[in-house]
Amino acid sequence: MVDALELVGDYVNVVWDPDYREARDVSVADEYFEFFAVKTTQCDVCNKAVTMDDSVVVYSLTVKQNRSFVDRFSREESGVWTQFLAKDWSVWLMCKDDAHKWGFLY
Ligand SMILES: [Zn+2]
Repeated sequence: MVDALELVGDYVNVVWDPDYREARDVSVADEYFEFFAVKTTQCDVCNKAVTMDDSVVVYSLTVKQNRSFVDRFSREESGVWTQFLAKDWSVWLMCKDDAHKWGFLY
């Protein structure tokens, strides 16, 4: 089993604000769609086409702290997901189906 935050330690030296480390950061996707000036885009998890109404933004630390999500995608043979989870600190645009499936939304 992979500890989500151990992934980070392999690549960078991160100092965590204790308050933020406990944060669960999921928000509406309006600003994402406005910033990129698009009506639809793809879910970062399943590649399904999504709109702002059927997606959410999940912040990178929240994704990395989701043990079941990290365990699932760290088992990919290519290792691409493991590297992606460890190195990429951009937000994840996620369809609400995946957000529910992985426990980011209740
Ligand atoms: Zn999805």
